[in-house]
Amino acid sequence: MPKYVFVTGGVLSGLGKGVVTASTGLLLKSMGYSVTAIKIDPYVNVDAGTMNPYMHGEVFVTEDGGETDLDLGHYERFLNTELTRKHNITTGQIYRIVIEKERKGDYLGKCVQVIPHVTDEIKSRIREVVKESHADISVIEIGGTVGDIEGLPFLEAVRQMRIEEGLTNTFFVHVALAPIIQTGEQKTKPVQHSVNELRRIGIQPDAIVVRSPKPLENEARSKIALYSNLPGNAVFSNPDTDIIYRVPLILGDEGYAKYLSIKLDLDFREPDLSQWEAFVNKLTSSTKEIRIAMVGKYTKLHDSYISIIEALKHASAWEGVKPVLKWFEATEIERGAVNPEGIVHSSDAAVILPGFGKRGSEGKIKTIKAFREANKPVLGICFGMQLMVVEATRNLLGLNKANSKELDPQTPHPVIDLLPSQYSVKHLGGTMRLGSYPIKIVKGTKAWEMYGKEVVRERHRHRYEVNPKYVDALEKAGFRVSGWSPERYVEFIELRDYPTLYFGSQPHPEFRSRPLQPSPIYSYFIRIVSQTRS
Ligand code: GLN
Repeated sequence: MPKYVFVTGGVLSGLGKGVVTASTGLLLKSMGYSVTAIKIDPYVNVDAGTMNPYMHGEVFVTEDGGETDLDLGHYERFLNTELTRKHNITTGQIYRIVIEKERKGDYLGKCVQVIPHVTDEIKSRIREVVKESHADISVIEIGGTVGDIEGLPFLEAVRQMRIEEGLTNTFFVHVALAPIIQTGEQKTKPVQHSVNELRRIGIQPDAIVVRSPKPLENEARSKIALYSNLPGNAVFSNPDTDIIYRVPLILGDEGYAKYLSIKLDLDFREPDLSQWEAFVNKLTSSTKEIRIAMVGKYTKLHDSYISIIEALKHASAWEGVKPVLKWFEATEIERGAVNPEGIVHSSDAAVILPGFGKRGSEGKIKTIKAFREANKPVLGICFGMQLMVVEATRNLLGLNKANSKELDPQTPHPVIDLLPSQYSVKHLGGTMRLGSYPIKIVKGTKAWEMYGKEVVRERHRHRYEVNPKYVDALEKAGFRVSGWSPERYVEFIELRDYPTLYFGSQPHPEFRSRPLQPSPIYSYFIRIVSQTRS
């Protein structure tokens, strides 16, 4: 029988429920069980692909091309696994199936209702994903906060699952906030209220994970236990920490794994987190700082670029350096409020971040030029890579009006053009070139030094590509294409005789970066930056 751990959240969003979910999974996995994770997003969108990163953070792309919630990135990184699009369930997907069934006549004349038809569909979808993943234990995070109207059908479905699957096959953990007020007191009332809200809809949690700026005080712990109808050892302290990778260690020390194993009737084996701990130590012990300019358009919400930030951390830990990320808003550079030379002066390297649309693009191009002229390392990801090519076409080939067709459909030099497959696209949802594709690496290039193999796979999310008609000209200007797709799209491009590293990647290698297996591209980039600092 598969086992289910359901994670709910209370008080407010942004408490790191995804990290608690991923940490729960890692602890169980480190006991020797096979574990998978699912994110439920109660919003009506079918997937995260059409959402502005400002609203919801990064869109995480799975191997199979799912455009999913960023929490799947946490799960993949913590569990060192690959999930499919099916591991992100939304209201939009559930209703779409229910409505399709109704139109086909599958409900045989019944009145189609939230309970049981929508809840049945939710349960069957969860069970299907669990079955396909062959996991012993599935950790399922229910997005949003208890009390949200849109979350109710999902909570009702998992409430039913406890009865159907049995007590020792299900476990409910509730993550809530105990704020510290001006007087310095740790307040438990918000946690109590959110637990009450959960019990009102029929779910008695088995454990509470309490987020707080400080470790949970004994008195607060007893109070929360009492009001939650739980013993004191079912309340776990999850204080603010400098890095998220500490959370499994913190919860492990609190006896969370042991408690889970008792409640789920699992054999307890001391979780082996030695490698994880080694990574955390490396990440936190490096003192040599490298300053990286992060140039993008959604820089006010760092979650918009979370996989890139994490990939830089993974690589830095193993290269023995401490990355200091300096954020620069491309729109401000564009309007002249921030000077690109100043950015170059105060940074050792630049990452030109992914993105869409015209706004801010000229700011990125100016920054790329300044870094290139200073011979400092530049890594461009997706849109960043495309703009590196635009900049070079303008300034090295003298084609001043060169541009991407995305930004200037009338440009006389469309050095970045729509992928041929995109011309017929009408709907925006799920229609980009998405997911993992093989890339052929050219020997004798930086890409070859990074990967050291002929064929690699990385994940994609784009509609535009380097226009094949310009490849010869770009090569004359000093570029070489170092990675090709099977259809001969440019995947990686680099400047041949650049003193440090000038590398553009059409795919997003950050999606495959793991704490214990950093991305070859990010590792190489960090190594070069570190060398320029010695
Ligand atoms: N806007 C670009 C494209 O669609 C790049 C997308 C991205 O950076 N993910 O090709």
